[in-house]
Amino acid sequence: MSKIYVETAKCIDCGACTAVCNSNALRLDTVSWSLIFDKQKCTGCKLCISACPMRALKASSNISSAAS
Ligand code: SF4
Ligand code: SF4
Repeated sequence: MSKIYVETAKCIDCGACTAVCNSNALRLDTVSWSLIFDKQKCTGCKLCISACPMRALKASSNISSAAS
């Protein structure tokens, strides 16, 4: 199960999350400039969540309580 959830509608592809991700689980595709999330590489450190200016990233365990 994925440890974080990307709300793609909020993402502006700024790359802030990719810069803080130490495991390369997040990267910007250089062709489409869209955010790619590889859940297999994610360690669940959650650094990306606080780095995102759009709050497009959420911890999976918080999805139900964060729904609005
Ligand atoms: S939780 Fe950590 S390892 Fe997973 S995508 Fe975010 S920064 Fe990368
Ligand atoms: S930091 Fe947020 S807005 Fe920027 S690329 Fe990552 S998910 Fe998208």
